[in-house]
Formats: sequence, structure tokens, C-alpha cells
Amino acid sequence: MEKIDCDILIVGGGAAGSRAAYEAKKLCPELKVIMAVRGGFGSSGSTNLMASESLGINAPFNFMDDGDNSEVFYKDMMDTGAGLADPNLCRILANESCKRVEELIALGVKFDSRDGKIIQRKLSGCTKARSLTCGGSTGREIVRVLKREIKKLGVEVVEDIRILDLVKGDNGKVCGAVGLIGEKFIYIQAKAVVIATGGAGRIFKYNVNPLSLEGDGWCMAYRAGARLINMEFFQIGPAVFKPNIMFIIHSHMWRLKPRLTNVYGEEFLNKYCPLGIEPSEVMVLKAMSYPFSVRTDAKYLDIAIFKEFTEGRGTDTGGVYFDVTHVSQETLLDKAPITYQILKQAGADLAKERIEIGMVVQNFNGGILIDSNGYTGVEGLFAAGEVTGGVHGADRPGGNNLIDTQVFGYRAGRACAEYASSIERKPQIEDISFNFSTITKEDELIIKKSEEIYYKNLTVIRNRLGLEDVLRFIDSYWGRPNIVVQNRLLLGSLIARAALMREESRGTHYREDFPKTNPLWTKRILILKSEKGYPSLELL
Ligand SMILES: Cc1cc2nc3c(=O)[nH]c(=O)nc-3n(C[C@H](O)[C@H](O)[C@H](O)COP(=O)(O)OP(=O)(O)OC[C@H]3O[C@@H](n4cnc5c(N)ncnc54)[C@H](O)[C@@H]3O)c2cc1C
Repeated sequence: MEKIDCDILIVGGGAAGSRAAYEAKKLCPELKVIMAVRGGFGSSGSTNLMASESLGINAPFNFMDDGDNSEVFYKDMMDTGAGLADPNLCRILANESCKRVEELIALGVKFDSRDGKIIQRKLSGCTKARSLTCGGSTGREIVRVLKREIKKLGVEVVEDIRILDLVKGDNGKVCGAVGLIGEKFIYIQAKAVVIATGGAGRIFKYNVNPLSLEGDGWCMAYRAGARLINMEFFQIGPAVFKPNIMFIIHSHMWRLKPRLTNVYGEEFLNKYCPLGIEPSEVMVLKAMSYPFSVRTDAKYLDIAIFKEFTEGRGTDTGGVYFDVTHVSQETLLDKAPITYQILKQAGADLAKERIEIGMVVQNFNGGILIDSNGYTGVEGLFAAGEVTGGVHGADRPGGNNLIDTQVFGYRAGRACAEYASSIERKPQIEDISFNFSTITKEDELIIKKSEEIYYKNLTVIRNRLGLEDVLRFIDSYWGRPNIVVQNRLLLGSLIARAALMREESRGTHYREDFPKTNPLWTKRILILKSEKGYPSLELL
């Protein structure tokens, strides 16, 4: 197998990987740093996806003079996290976010401003206007600037490589990873590895994630002995199903009071609202909260859309009809100009025709357990960004994922550089043999089936029967030799087991059979690999 040698391997080229690579090389220029990116650097990952009107990054600058500060930010995270956000990580995020964003500004990121003053907006789960944007391309802009700096510093970038697994040396320390470029395996030997592979929306039939987000980072970290936390919590929200584009239904669209109908032309929202709660009130709440969460009564809208589909009253695309033809083109251009234009370009004029929308998986709150420096507890292994867990809890304030990539990308990059500098020799390994069985037609069918069954049972509505169905499905295929299928089964198992164990509803986790939040469940679920290879769960 071809071997490439370096000191630090960063896996992933989103906002977290870019920041970690930049900081590692800046701190220790003598180290050889390689970034391995599935897809293109600057065009892969959620960071670079333009699927929403505005992509916010939170920092409590108080530019809008509404009394924001790090203490208020910290409290928002803890409240929205519903008791499951890590206080230590949240404190760091609250205290260091302004500094990290100031550094981005100094490097050339130009945030949206009015009359020379940066604008901040209030997103869901935030009590203050805290989010800075570059329209819908905030993440792309951050990576553009970091990429330029990374190249100047001399970080090497390997694109179009899929890292498949970590390699451990004679002393049990991580000493690199094996990846696949085309049909060629490559071993990248390193003193330390930072996993920054983002989320795993692609394991669900309906999602707004780019192709490369299949959760490889979680699987390799789990196999290497890292622990995962809060895996049952991830964000799901409404997005456009027809026309066929990847674009979320931005919160403010609900202020237009859309008419929601199923395939039989029935308006259905009323049916899901308990006595005393009007559909119009639910829409007002939805306008303040994009993701599904049991935190607010906006949840009835998400549940309604999801149930109409799963109970067979959805459209062929898996959605329901969303109709704002009662709103004039002028008003649409005034209130929702970007959504209007994007849909128009895709062939749908919102002023004249209805579109189809449905529930999609957007991003993950849980992931690899890290300490305050991105260390995973497995020697030589660090992680940053959406692939990590702990800072977000059961739910998170909108705008917190991007700032997480910068604050903890910074810390993980520096910590792994210090670690790599302190090591005299790379852990040795006898022989790199990687058993890669090629994917078969049956494997492909299993993957397709898993995407359907995971979407149906692991997303908006969960219950014991559905979760047990998922686990039975996984058991019937467990042990398949191909690593891609193995990963899909493992990921389903991690989520289903945690969701089954949590017999309550909290944040983004809704158990139809346990609809109330139970204070006794203010505990986090940790998952690690048991001796038999199955996920073993513990409470923290
Ligand atoms: C539609 C949408 C809207 C969002 N809106 C917001 C918002 O307003 N505010 C906010 O804070 N967050 C938002 N988020 C979430 C946020 O964008 C992400 O959490 C964040 O960008 C993740 O950054 P990351 O660097 O951790 O991962 P990503 O940007 O996803 O990057 C992951 C990288 O890892 C690579 N990779 C994956 N697997 C492998 C492998 N096996 N080998 C090599 N490379 C691999 C990918 O190709 C990619 O380069 C949104 C997400 C979506 C999808």
C-alpha cells in the first residue's frame, strides 16, 4: 500500500478541519500537516452547502445593543440544551467565540453589515441577536479565507480521498489512517489525527446534507475506542421536496401563513394541535424555531408534516403541499426574496403555484466525546466540529454549530500540534493490511433499505416498536464485510440504542410513547464499543 508520511493528519475540509489545520500549522510551522478531504476542499461538507437563506455564526458582540454578553450566551446554551449540554464546553464557547470571530474578520471574512456596522440576528434558542452572516454562504466564506491562509502556511491538501479507518501502532496510539482514492488504498502515517468529518445526514432517505456526510468519522473513532455522546439528538426541519432542490424552509416563511394540505387536498395541521392551541399560533412559533424540538409548540407542525407522509397521505416525493399563492409577488419579494428567487430559478413561482415540502435531517448535536482541547481519550486522536458531541445537549441555539467549529477547531488544532511536537517517534506498525471487500448489489440494497427504515423510525417520531424494528433490521445484516455497509449499520445502531434507552422526550428527541420530559432523565448517554463489537451504553 502506498504510504504518505506527515506529523498531523486532519480528516475533513469543512470549517472545523480548516480551522484546526490553520492553527496547528501556525503554532508549529515545522510540523508537516496534511488535510485529507472527501470531495473538494472548499466545496464539500455542510459548511460549504448553500441550502438556506442565511447561515449564522454566533458570538455575543452585542452589536445590536440588546444587552448580549458571554454570560447570556452561556445561559442560552444551557437552557436550550435542556440539561444535557456540557457546562465546561459551553463556558469555553461563550467566552472564546468573539475572539475567534474577530480573527476571522482580521483574515478577511466580511460579515453582512449596514452603514458600516455588522448586523446580528436572533436565531432560535437565542434570547439576543447574536448571529453574524454572509448571507447563505457564511461557511463557504470562512473556508475560503482559511484555505488561502492554510496554503500560505504550507499545509498539504489531499482531495477526493475517503478516509476509511484509523490505524493504531504497537503502543496502542493512533498513528494515521487508511484512505481510498479512486481504487487505490493509501496509508497516511501521522503522529496525531484530527477527525473533522461533520455529520451523517446522508444515512437518512431525506436530508439536506452533501454526499460525503455518511458519518465515517464516528465509526472510525468508535472502532478506535473513543466514546460517543448524545447520539439520539439531531436536528430535523422542513425543506423543499419539489422542485427538486436542497433548500430549507426558512423560519420566516411561516409568517406568510401557508396553506398546508395533504395529497387529498385536506388541511391537516388542525388535527395535530391539542385543544386550545390554534394552527396559526403554531405557525407563529415555527417562525421562531427552524428545527423540530419538543421545547416549543412549533413541534406540532413538524409532527403533522411527518405523520401525513408516514401514514400514507403525503405526495409522491414524500412531502405535503405548501401554498402561499394568497401572498402577492411584491410581498414575497419583500419578505422572502432569496427563497422566492431560488425557487423561481428552480421552476416554481411561489406567487402562482404551491410547492412540496417535507422533513429532512440537517445536522447532529451529538458525536465523539471530547475534552476542552478536542482530545478524545484515545492517544493521538483529536476531533472538532459537528462530528463531536457534548457542547450542544438535547438541542442547541441556531448559529452554534459554526462557532463550535471555530472555537474547538482552534483548540483541537493547537492541542494536537503540541502533542505531535512532544512525540519523538511515530508509533510503528508491522504491516498495514486493510481488508476491503468491494460493495455488492446486495450491499447497495441494504443501504437503500436502511435509509428508508432510519428515516421512518429514527427521525421526528420515535417509539419502542419502530426502534426495535430498526435494531432487528441491523441485526439481520450485522457482520457484512464491506466497511461502508458496516458503517451504516453501526450508525443506525448507535442512534436507535440511545433513542430506545431514553424513555422520555427532550429537545430533538421525541418518544411518542414517552411524550413528557422526565427530570430523572437529565443524564447523558455515552456509547462505546464493547468487547463483542456491539455498542455498549452508559449514563453520565
Ligand atoms: C442547510 C443547513 C443549514 C445550516 N445552518 C446553520 C446555521 O445557520 N448556523 C450554524 O451554526 N450551523 C448551521 N448548520 C450546521 C453547520 O453548517 C455545520 O454543523 C458545520 O458547517 C459543520 O462543519 P464541519 O467542519 O464540522 O463539517 P462539514 O462542513 O460537514 O465538513 C466535513 C468535511 O469532512 C469531509 N469528510 C467526511 N467524511 C470523510 C472521510 N471519510 N474522509 C475524508 N473526508 C471526509 C467532508 O467531505 C467535508 O470536507 C447548517 C447545516 C445545514 C445542512
